[in-house]
Amino acid sequence: MARYKLEYIWLDGYTPTPNLRSKTLVKDFDSFPALEQLPQWGFDGSSTQQAEGRSSDCMLKPVAVFPDSTRRNGVLVMAEVMMPDGSTPHPSNHRATVLDDPGAWFGFEQEYFLFQEGRPLGFPAEGFPPPQGEYYCGTGFKAVGDIARQIVEEHLDLCLDAGINHEGINAEVAKGQWEFQIFGKGSKTAADQVWVARYILNRLCEKYGIDVQYHCKPIRGDWNGSGMHANFSTAYMRDTGGKVYFEALMAAFAEYREEHIAVYGPDNHLRLTGLHETQSIDKFNYGLADRGSSVRIPHSFMNNNYKGYLEDRRPNSQGDPYQIASRILKTIVSVPTP
Ligand code: ADP
Ligand code: MN
Ligand code: MN
Ligand code: MN
Repeated sequence: MARYKLEYIWLDGYTPTPNLRSKTLVKDFDSFPALEQLPQWGFDGSSTQQAEGRSSDCMLKPVAVFPDSTRRNGVLVMAEVMMPDGSTPHPSNHRATVLDDPGAWFGFEQEYFLFQEGRPLGFPAEGFPPPQGEYYCGTGFKAVGDIARQIVEEHLDLCLDAGINHEGINAEVAKGQWEFQIFGKGSKTAADQVWVARYILNRLCEKYGIDVQYHCKPIRGDWNGSGMHANFSTAYMRDTGGKVYFEALMAAFAEYREEHIAVYGPDNHLRLTGLHETQSIDKFNYGLADRGSSVRIPHSFMNNNYKGYLEDRRPNSQGDPYQIASRILKTIVSVPTP
């Protein structure tokens, strides 16, 4: 028997961007607990914009569990917010709107800035550092500074310890900007892991006195914004696909352009300008290996007779991967398979 520290993590009711909240439940288990062993737990929804003060209890329903190597007997418990009955999803619970589909695979590329004293890490107190060019995948103090690499390396290790399926990390185009990629099979897997990876990064940065800046365009001017490209495929896209189906799918993406943009993260008009490797927000197009398109077709997709995955480049760094996955799957199921 050991006393485990269960860190219940949930998304609050703030709009347009929910914040990560968490609190610790201490509980005895013989060994590392499985999801089925974890109880529902309550919290005060009136402090998170999820309830009125008079009847303020909301419930936390565990949905995914990860080891937390920063704490002795630590457990990270991703939870959905439920109404007091414990079985009705709260209106802020977008995970509950994601269609269950074990054949749906998502890969998210999360870009973000590290911020200190209100500016990107490595920016001078006055003015700007040298313009973009040598920062992307850069090496050396001049390109990436000192503490940033330490943070991203620690973050990678903590995520791997937790069993999060990181596929890679890189320094990005702007100074102080970084990226990690997470891939998951099953419609909710990658989204769960992106939220837990964000959580781990936020907590890690506390001790450095650094904040993670997820806003999609934190510095105006000739500096890249931050995206969260959503790579997606279904079993049908991978196994059958074909030109006719692909064109029908893209027609549906064009038809639902506004519905997609609505959940692709706030302030996206500042980022989707047609510059800095983006398509403008009010257009929809697709293109082979085209980083200025809304949806990029990887070479592998064309070489494989329209089979494989596609990259929606519009979601931004502050987007909720649950809402993004939910919308993409809604559009996909609106298209009949031939
Ligand atoms: P780039 O920066 O060139 O867009 P990355 O390597 O950063 O490419 O990201 C590619 C993403 O595609 C990865 O997150 C990967 O997990 C994802 N991916 C690869 N194959 C599939 C697939 N079959 N279905 C969904 N996503 C996929
Ligand atoms: Mn990438
Ligand atoms: Mn990138
Ligand atoms: Mn990409």
